[in-house]
Amino acid sequence: MLILGYIPFQQNIYNQVAFMPVSITNATNPDQAQAIFTEHYSGSIPLASVICDPSGNGYDCYGYQYVGQGTFYNSELQYYGATLAIVGAIALYVGNKFEPLKPKAKLTRPIKIRVDEDICIANTVCVQLTPKVFQLKKQERASIFAPLAYVIDPNGATNDEILIAAQMCPTGAIIIEDAETGERIHPPLPEG
Ligand code: SF4
Repeated sequence: MLILGYIPFQQNIYNQVAFMPVSITNATNPDQAQAIFTEHYSGSIPLASVICDPSGNGYDCYGYQYVGQGTFYNSELQYYGATLAIVGAIALYVGNKFEPLKPKAKLTRPIKIRVDEDICIANTVCVQLTPKVFQLKKQERASIFAPLAYVIDPNGATNDEILIAAQMCPTGAIIIEDAETGERIHPPLPEG
């Protein structure tokens, strides 16, 4: 249900059990009309609420009995849910077209990592993903410049977790190389 955008919610259910018009000569506002209606109501069913709507000659007052709670579904949100599903499907299709989904080989070889401080924008994505590997530098003095990320422990996460953090870095500031050959693993070097 939630996937389709239908969100269930509980709502009180009332049943109309009484009606009485109240003339404008007796009531000049809905509160007065309600009071008059309640005073004159002689039914056996206890009223949970009284609503008075303006009419041509005063107010039409309705008395409601409380029936219980019911489960309803917000049907308008189905369009929101459907739109999200369509956008997700298109994104998957387009993404798969440019970079087909295939199982990625695990990054098992020893790696060397560093942060290019010239392009780090200190948004802490790497810190959030792998806090044992990346942290922001401490600042000695207050500065308008955000503290940059640096590597505190290259073994604080698996190679694959570090690779994901590097891939999520919006500026490509995390550089991963093969520790033995120096071959660039991420970000890929431009061809040619
Ligand atoms: S994710 Fe990239 S830009 Fe953000 S703090 Fe880490 S290294 Fe810097």
